[in-house]
Amino acid sequence: MSLPIEAQAEPVTSYRGFRATRDGWLLSPMNERLWTPGLNRASCDVRRHRAPAEGCTCGFWSYREPMLAVRYFGYDLGPSQQDLHLIVEVLGYGRIIVADDGYRTEVMKVNALLDVEQGVDLTPWMERYDVPAVRSELDVAIVIEGTLTALGEDVGQLNRIGIRIDSRQLVVSMHSLIVFQLYSIPLGTRVRVVRDPLDMEVVGVRVLDAHDGEQG
Ligand SMILES: [Zn+2]
Repeated sequence: MSLPIEAQAEPVTSYRGFRATRDGWLLSPMNERLWTPGLNRASCDVRRHRAPAEGCTCGFWSYREPMLAVRYFGYDLGPSQQDLHLIVEVLGYGRIIVADDGYRTEVMKVNALLDVEQGVDLTPWMERYDVPAVRSELDVAIVIEGTLTALGEDVGQLNRIGIRIDSRQLVVSMHSLIVFQLYSIPLGTRVRVVRDPLDMEVVGVRVLDAHDGEQG
């Protein structure tokens, strides 16, 4: 016996990574299941019971925080990737199994797209699923251009320092050779830096010519 999905008091809000097609569809990253607008119901492909079940891996997986979704799904969120991935806020209904970092859920709905500054126009997915794009504090831009304004800031992490491109602080590993390169660049120089998509640390830097990257 279970309540109809619509009768549940409060849906559970969480976050997932999806594979995304350029024409606006979202797919489960593991099994390429196509998600429909509105409610989607998980099934168990292994044991054919109602999903999710204890002692199984079935159900729609999701995470409590957007950053956890990025970390666990571990995708390259760069805009130029053939294999585009988006971070999405979902609402969970029906049977839900709670885990440390998130949930396995029976019924789920795409609720909002997270704008994490990937450089991707989210309109095709907003229209397909009739959902808004929400600006996220989470910042996953891979390539960043701007003026180097600070070096060696404390970020509260072992063997990590902060640098600043315009007002945005980025993290660099002290063990990375990039540190020496960065310290040879005078503050006020326009640079382009590249971050590792998995840990978001700066792994590459290039000094831009004075006219490079400027408008006009
Ligand atoms: Zn199962």
